[in-house]
Amino acid sequence: MPAVHDQFIPAAQPVIGDAEVEAAVRVLRSGMVVQGPEVAAFEQEFADLVDGRHCVAVNSGTSALQLTLLGLGIGPGDEVIAPSFSFAASANAVRLVGAEPVFVDIEPGSFCLDPDAVAAAVGPRTAAIMPVHLYGHPSDMTRIMQIAEQRGLAVVEDACQAHGAALDARPVGAFGAAGCFSFYPTKNMHALEGGMITTADPALARTLRLLRNQGMEQRYANEIVGANMRMTDVAAAIGRVQLTQLPEWTERRRANAKYLDSRITGAIVPPVADGARHVYHQYTVRVTGDRDAAQQHLKEQGVASAVYYPTPIHRLRPYLTAEGTPGPWDLPETDRAAAEVLSLPIFPALTTAQLDRIADAVNGLADTNTEAM
Ligand SMILES: *Cc1c(COP(=O)(O)O)cnc(C)c1O
Repeated sequence: MPAVHDQFIPAAQPVIGDAEVEAAVRVLRSGMVVQGPEVAAFEQEFADLVDGRHCVAVNSGTSALQLTLLGLGIGPGDEVIAPSFSFAASANAVRLVGAEPVFVDIEPGSFCLDPDAVAAAVGPRTAAIMPVHLYGHPSDMTRIMQIAEQRGLAVVEDACQAHGAALDARPVGAFGAAGCFSFYPTKNMHALEGGMITTADPALARTLRLLRNQGMEQRYANEIVGANMRMTDVAAAIGRVQLTQLPEWTERRRANAKYLDSRITGAIVPPVADGARHVYHQYTVRVTGDRDAAQQHLKEQGVASAVYYPTPIHRLRPYLTAEGTPGPWDLPETDRAAAEVLSLPIFPALTTAQLDRIADAVNGLADTNTEAM
């Protein structure tokens, strides 16, 4: 029976409210628009989210990853162990510094790096491990840090989807040599565009500050070769407003997820590992039947859905071999996830009636060819 609804439920709903607009206007009128007091304040305030680590703001999450790898001295000849089941930005950052990603498989429950696969992939050229806290679920950082410490490897956390996620009460971005966050509009908090690097190492933090600004601390006293990856003060002012909302938004996402968990029977709901605090950037179920038909059915019920990611990175064109075939990777859980995942709306402003409509639509999937398992 088609649900009665007046509004289609979108996949995500970025917030640009009055407070964000006022913050932007205030900065524009101040005339201090690039990497001024707002950026400094945003960096200080963001530190509360990552156990007081040093924070370096940049212009995107991709820049955060790229600059971190540069700052750690990772480049040509180096390999970085990373998941293929992620947004391409993770591997792109590795390639952009001239290093090579080594793709390893994920754990089927968390959709994050499988530590056993990581340990097996370490070789003489391995310089770093890049766990991605996918969908807002923390990677198994306890084991990944153990492996890294035993083998003398740096860990760069891709926390672009995981603001406020934690494992055993320790926040993501506070485990590795550095953590990288994104403030793209659809993330759990945004700054129009933007990124943040978090690190416990003051020397690395200083290097990153140089690298984001042409290698300068004092104007025209360039110390090293650097890029321009500065954040604007307008972006920082918006990010500061969003940061004050993040705790409440995260609790809403978690409450929405709990509600859907309790109501969905027509698909496999996302498992949460012991000790993990999932912040549900995405609420991602698995459908084992015809996913296209499932999406069509949801759409007819007024519910958006999305597939992140239909093609694992190792199957994307830039990562194929010269012959145009995938490299020597054996990633069965990655391929299975790419074929089965479906993300449902989970944004904070959803009402109970909307959550019910989402759950009912998913539970109707059994009637459309899709086997629930
Ligand atoms: C969004 C995202 C990035 C890149 O962040 P941008 O701010 O869009 O550059 C990197 N990794 C993951 C996992 C992401 O989701």
